[in-house]
Amino acid sequence: MSTRLVIIGGGPGGNTAATVAARLGAKVTLIERDLVGGAAHLWDCVPSKAMIATGGFLSELHRAEVMGLAAEGRLDLDALRNRIAGIEAKLHHSICELLTSQGVRMIRGTGRLKGPHEVIAETADGVEEFRADAILLATGSRPRIPDWAEIDGDRVLTTRQAYPPKEIPGHLIVIGSGVTGVEFAHMFRSLGSEVTLIVSRQQVLPGKDPEVAAALEAEFLRRGVRLYKGARAAGIERNGDSLKVLCDDGRVANGTHAVMAIGAVPNSDGLGLDAAGVQTDAGGYVPVTHHLQSNVPHIYVAGDLSGKLPLSSVASMQGRKIAEHVMGLHTRSHRHLDYEKAASAIFTEPEIADVGVAESEAFAEGRKLRVTKVPFSANAKALIEGDPRGFVKIVSDPATGVVLGGSIVGRGAAELISVLALAVTANLKVSDLVDSVLVHPALSESLADASE
Ligand SMILES: Cc1cc2nc3c(=O)[nH]c(=O)nc-3n(C[C@H](O)[C@H](O)[C@H](O)COP(=O)(O)OP(=O)(O)OC[C@H]3O[C@@H](n4cnc5c(N)ncnc54)[C@H](O)[C@@H]3O)c2cc1C
Repeated sequence: MSTRLVIIGGGPGGNTAATVAARLGAKVTLIERDLVGGAAHLWDCVPSKAMIATGGFLSELHRAEVMGLAAEGRLDLDALRNRIAGIEAKLHHSICELLTSQGVRMIRGTGRLKGPHEVIAETADGVEEFRADAILLATGSRPRIPDWAEIDGDRVLTTRQAYPPKEIPGHLIVIGSGVTGVEFAHMFRSLGSEVTLIVSRQQVLPGKDPEVAAALEAEFLRRGVRLYKGARAAGIERNGDSLKVLCDDGRVANGTHAVMAIGAVPNSDGLGLDAAGVQTDAGGYVPVTHHLQSNVPHIYVAGDLSGKLPLSSVASMQGRKIAEHVMGLHTRSHRHLDYEKAASAIFTEPEIADVGVAESEAFAEGRKLRVTKVPFSANAKALIEGDPRGFVKIVSDPATGVVLGGSIVGRGAAELISVLALAVTANLKVSDLVDSVLVHPALSESLADASE
């Protein structure tokens, strides 16, 4: 009899596991209370990047002069809303087609554990019960709301309420300057809002390479984004159409809207974890082994709920690894997911991407490194495109030349980082990059230059 896998949550973690496990011969049931594709498609990655793409297009139009053109753009909010809905519908459709083609049974309903091998789905038609050999919990997370903020969905918003926007805020105060916060600051600035960013530490993007963070801060300041550094938001007062964000150091930010970008909480409540004996940590996340098993070995966890790197790409890879483990394919070598080698990007202007060992971290640990850096201002394609901002930095082992990591700041960083991600995963050497004959003129030439 085929292995019965029941999955709760149809985001990147759940739907990737479903496709791969079904392809490997499992009988898969996927329970999703909303739309398959998950928060990643509906609320997080896709709409935010769609808005950033529109804002980026507007910025390009404003730069048209540099290219010898005269052009101007006007934002059409209805068209933007339709565009986002269209992208989401297409992605939802293609995932559903893929799942159907693999024979995955999709249930629209809310899932929970009834026991270690039993799952219940509450649907519009009633309750259905499933018995499973393996279970995957991939229910994701939701925005964290502090107790000092009253979210009204109108002027005081979570990230999920900020798009598609009803109106472009006159002056948006973004609370939190991690990846989501800086992306929102960039997004709304490029769509025409005044923006104030509340930065609780002394740099945006805490934990990132300070040189990378400094490049983004400089660009924010150039574009007129106000930075409140070292200030923690502690209260919000709304008065009609305007509001004040009160900071713990006494400063006050005035604006028309505020958005919370201060992290997430896991969707582990109401999942029936106790009924199956699944343990959580103090934050509600479910700790996992390197095979992504909870303390109950046949109950797996993927995505944000696992408390690992909260990225859609990581959730998908976890889903794939889980499907392989459930189907007994994990005995091949190098099957563990190495979170340190996961590439990530920040879709700001300039774009930022990094992978592997960060120079600042290694420096703090006293590790010997070779760090090489070249600016895009020396790159022909960057000059031709009229945007020579940013740089490529490559971190390698001085003894062996193996590429350990890198950061890219500038146009196309999220695409270019793939080359360094491959180098880091495959233990390639800087000489492998230097020896590759690349396209000219291309931004990727800076990767070879930084490897010299
Ligand atoms: C603003 C923002 C932008 C982001 N941009 C990026 C990006 O550009 N790139 C990137 O890699 N990551 C990005 N992320 C992170 C990414 O969205 C998450 O890491 C990813 O969605 C996690 O996937 P998941 O499978 O854990 O869960 P989710 O995508 O959250 O999906 C979980 C699903 O489970 C369902 N569910 C929950 N409980 C139940 C239940 N009891 N029964 C049935 N269904 C249930 C939910 O409806 C949901 O559909 C972003 C996050 C935010 C907040």
